Amino acid sequence: IPDFPVKNEPVYGYMKGSPERKELEDALNKMSKETRDVPIVIGDKEFKTDNVKYQVMPHNHKEKIAKFYYADQKLLQKAIETAVETQKKWDRTPIRDRLNIWEKAASLMAGRYRAQLNAATMLGQAKTIIQAEIDSAAELIDFFRLNAFFLKEAHKYQPISEDAKVTKNSMRYRGIDGFIAAVSPFNFTAIGGNLAYTPALIGNSVLWKPSDTALLSNWIIFQICREAGLPPGVVNFVPADGPVFGDTITASKHLAGINFTGSVPTFTRLWTQVGKNINSYVNFPRLIGECGGKNYHFVHPTADPVSVVHGTIRSSFEFCGQKCSACSRMYVPESLWPKIKDGLIEKCSTLKIGDVMEFDSFTSAVIDDKAYKRIKGYIDHAKNSKNLKIIAGGKCDDSKGYFIEPTIVVSTDPLDKIMTEEIFGPVLSIYVYKDSDVEKTLSLVGSSTVFALTGAVFAKDQAFLKHALEELKMTAGNFYINDKSTGSVVGQQPFGGSRMSGTNDKAGGPHYVLRWGNPQAIKETF
Ligand code: GLU
Repeated sequence: IPDFPVKNEPVYGYMKGSPERKELEDALNKMSKETRDVPIVIGDKEFKTDNVKYQVMPHNHKEKIAKFYYADQKLLQKAIETAVETQKKWDRTPIRDRLNIWEKAASLMAGRYRAQLNAATMLGQAKTIIQAEIDSAAELIDFFRLNAFFLKEAHKYQPISEDAKVTKNSMRYRGIDGFIAAVSPFNFTAIGGNLAYTPALIGNSVLWKPSDTALLSNWIIFQICREAGLPPGVVNFVPADGPVFGDTITASKHLAGINFTGSVPTFTRLWTQVGKNINSYVNFPRLIGECGGKNYHFVHPTADPVSVVHGTIRSSFEFCGQKCSACSRMYVPESLWPKIKDGLIEKCSTLKIGDVMEFDSFTSAVIDDKAYKRIKGYIDHAKNSKNLKIIAGGKCDDSKGYFIEPTIVVSTDPLDKIMTEEIFGPVLSIYVYKDSDVEKTLSLVGSSTVFALTGAVFAKDQAFLKHALEELKMTAGNFYINDKSTGSVVGQQPFGGSRMSGTNDKAGGPHYVLRWGNPQAIKETF
């Protein structure tokens, strides 16, 4: 078990000719040529059903990299029974043994499986090498190491025993009797690992429904954890149709919690079903969700335009804007607009969009056909609306992969849907305000959307920054001053937002693992 202070896993450079580059290229070549067969795993048994699905490469959607199977209701039921049974034993496994499994898994991810995890994330989720490395290497490893560390640290706190000769008070963390359902997204391989395995760390059993479009990378995590010694049945790998999965888990009296990252409508649906069944559960299910955002960059007249341009291009367009934290609306004062506009247009013209296997691509394709159509819909809306003007990008082409150019739209209406709805793609909308309207514009930030995930303010004026910190207090769970709105690091900027962005349980923070615990206070009298 690592000693304090735990360090974040370093991000490798993958320079041409380096050993890590060579290993990764081999993994990419091999993986891109095969279709891996991925079973459902419940306990120590593998299953396949007639409901066959494929994961394709978004940048080349005729190529399949994984074949997998949807678990039906009967199999999900079996997974629930297995998880509930396993939990009883797993919860009795000494904490030290559990922490050792996590440390071993993290070492395997950092070493032997790093190239495979990165290759699967690049090919399956269309991440460039740098985006894959900070996700399926660094962040994933950090989640495993730091959550283990936080859990170990939590045990150091013990309640007060006023007279130790008469009574001793103590606390222990148990899992919750029942099972946890983890529903994870495509956009971060690391989130899959965190959602499924952190509840398990503290003593729970899990049904893990990975995203169809992150299947292969998530499967590799599952295999690593088995190899690290995680007993069968603690985490069960059950790809499934969303509504079938949701209906089955929420109908079980053993549902102890849902660990979710995805859309607001899906989380709302799960929450509603739990509400309907509330009288039937053994435990009140814990519902933890992260649901997206409409993240902002607010630019003050005293801001440095160069850093605004640089940060915005990265935040809005890295990984095609498919980070929950991506900047998708920006407020710019008239006085800085010419410089910022020129800078953004110039930068956009240099961005290489392409194949993830070409190591110099800045971005690749968006995740799938559904995303492509949704994002294109917003771009078409921009083309057809007189309040909106596209100043960069705007082209879409799905003939080979789901490619959409980084697109910048200027809106004269700060309440147009392009400024207020989540798009989850490479579209940045900008509202240019009169310098004298700083206050009025600031108040729009919080009132014009239902989200509160990330936000950034760029200014040199310290008094304004102090003021903005208060004015925008409720508008973001992760707030940045003079930096872009993306790129939170586990243990450094615990991540999550409130309002419709989620329950703000702060992935990568010290309390996250404890949210899945079932603490018991013990008073011993002598
Ligand atoms: N933690 C990531 C960031 O700050 C975003 C995670 C997400 O997209 O859910 O960029």
